[in-house]
Amino acid sequence: MNIYTQVCGLFIVLLLLIFYKKQPTIGLETEKKYIYILYAVLGCVVSDIGSVILITNSEMYSYETITMIGKLYLISIFAVTYLTLAYEFTEIQPRLPKQVPNGLQFGFRMFAIVVVLFILFHPLYFVHNGNAVYSYGPACTVTYICCFFTIVTTLIGTYKFKRYINPKRRQALQLWMYTMLVFAFIQFFNPKILIVSFGCCLGAMITYFELENPESNISRNTGLFSATTLKDYFDYLYKKEEEFSVLMFAYSTTAESSIDTKTIRKAVDELNTLLYDFKDGKVFTTAEGFFIMVFDAPDKMMYARKLIDDAIAKISNDPESSNIQSLLRPYYIYVPESCIANSSLEILSLINDFIPTDFHSNLETEVTIDEAAVQALYRKKEIEDMVVDALENDRVEVYYQPIYCVEEGIYTSAEALVRIRLQDGTLVNPGSFIPIAEDTGRIMALSDAIFKKTFSFMRSYRLTSLGIKYLELNLSIRQGEDPFFPNRFSDALNKYGLSASSVNLEITETASLKKKDMLMHTMNKLKENGCNFSLDDFGSGSSNLSYIIDMPIDVIKFDKDLTSSYFHSDKARAVVTAVTDMAHSMGIRIVAEGIETESQYKIMADLGIDYIQGYYFSKPLPEKDFIRFLQQNNLKPKSDVC
Ligand code: C2E
Ligand code: MG
Ligand code: MG
Repeated sequence: MNIYTQVCGLFIVLLLLIFYKKQPTIGLETEKKYIYILYAVLGCVVSDIGSVILITNSEMYSYETITMIGKLYLISIFAVTYLTLAYEFTEIQPRLPKQVPNGLQFGFRMFAIVVVLFILFHPLYFVHNGNAVYSYGPACTVTYICCFFTIVTTLIGTYKFKRYINPKRRQALQLWMYTMLVFAFIQFFNPKILIVSFGCCLGAMITYFELENPESNISRNTGLFSATTLKDYFDYLYKKEEEFSVLMFAYSTTAESSIDTKTIRKAVDELNTLLYDFKDGKVFTTAEGFFIMVFDAPDKMMYARKLIDDAIAKISNDPESSNIQSLLRPYYIYVPESCIANSSLEILSLINDFIPTDFHSNLETEVTIDEAAVQALYRKKEIEDMVVDALENDRVEVYYQPIYCVEEGIYTSAEALVRIRLQDGTLVNPGSFIPIAEDTGRIMALSDAIFKKTFSFMRSYRLTSLGIKYLELNLSIRQGEDPFFPNRFSDALNKYGLSASSVNLEITETASLKKKDMLMHTMNKLKENGCNFSLDDFGSGSSNLSYIIDMPIDVIKFDKDLTSSYFHSDKARAVVTAVTDMAHSMGIRIVAEGIETESQYKIMADLGIDYIQGYYFSKPLPEKDFIRFLQQNNLKPKSDVC
């Protein structure tokens, strides 16, 4: 009996079904269509084998039984080609710029129903001639014509909508369709070779290996769904207009010893097992230590968070792993409502935007992406664009705020303070853009521009002849962490013919110990090159005396919060007095910032503060006004100053 190829095909399709069913799938539309295709192919080979057996032994069966199985074979072969077309359509449709008219989809469905009805109600004849077993008749002819039509339509689709179909999927579909065509032609011209159903099996196999192998959607390390599948899944949910909630859980590890590494490994394994066993939602891993969980309701999302917390708490109960919280630094992003974004790309980029660059220095451990957070993000992006635009169009300006030396009675330095000039001429103060530039990394380019402008200004105006000994420059946190900064800074100074002592770099304190270490390293290298440092914003936020002890500081700048509280708080007065005495005993000089009135100035001067910076003397001034200010104040006899 001529059923060798069909039996081979049957094994292939059964194996594919077993493999496919064994692996977890995320339930995408294409996955559902593919499983229908597999069932249709199974129906095709089984009915093909059945009809060959029945025709070969036709004397034992009634004509109706043989016709029924033969027609089942024709319907299933048509179903395979029709479902393949539907599979292609599912892939292309969400990417098309315009919605496909409902009429077209309806038309195709009607076409399929008409074909099936035609097959059912039209005659089918059989031939059993030696080794040759085949069928013919109107039902058969119509099936072949309609299969040919759907195959050609699928092929045309792969060429016409090339842009909207992933190249791998396109090639796999083309290979499948051409295989079917070639096999159908061979069988048409040589009815003894029954290979059409085998062709269907080969097609299903090509699609399995190229596209639908669920294992390729799964991360090898964790067994969870991979990042590429996440996008497909979001596409699917948005297309189906299903509401969902997302929880991103991430951790960033810091191991300082082999014991730490072992603890982390143990915890990571336990967390992976927990996430792998999650039943309430789908879990994807997008990178090492990053997990995105998708749920159909916010309460499931909160429950998942609780499970993770419980798991971490359980790990930290073990005395050997009690420091796991600080070693892992877990971070959570919630998206309670998927309508915050309109597409997979939008929601992915939103989540990405909320992932902190450094978990360890980030004080927050979670963020919720809601309407307010998205608005704040857009504002942040606007500001980032403003900084980029200012850099590209040379609208970064540097203002100088004179600093008065109490002992000499003149202005011996000034602080360089950046401003951005908008296209309409408005000036934007740094408070609104420096933290964002720092956060987005734009601060590096911005600081380079500020330094160059300041150096060029110093070279052009020979400030020393106007009494200025050095200018204060604010060092950004990122510059402080950059191991290449000291060399770049020295090169820039050399380029403008300036000595390192002509500037004082202002550093600020950071909460992160790691950043402090990196800053200290940078400062020590700069110090070797002759640089001096001021500790800025002392007394605001988290001031730490260890900076004064550990860092090579020459000047401490009392923040205006501290100086203003000095005037009405006994405690602040005690701190200012004690720190001033302590600094002086260490050879460190003091600048009081934010001095706005004559009485404040006098009190500070009497206290022994070395330098005064504040609106009482001058606001930050543009280059020309600053030069005029120095000419008017520094070049006059001491008593005339201000
Ligand atoms: P800062 O380094 O502590 O600078 C002192 C700030 O206090 C300046 O604000 C200055 O205009 C303001 N100020 C000075 N005297 C008085 C006063 O008497 N009363 C009041 N109310 N304010 C006074 P500005 O220019 O808005 O700068 C704000 C912050 O932006 C700076 O604080 C600094 O942290 C940052 N910044 C400014 N320019 C740069 C820069 O070029 N690079 C970097 N990385 N940061 C900068
Ligand atoms: Mg400063
Ligand atoms: Mg300051």
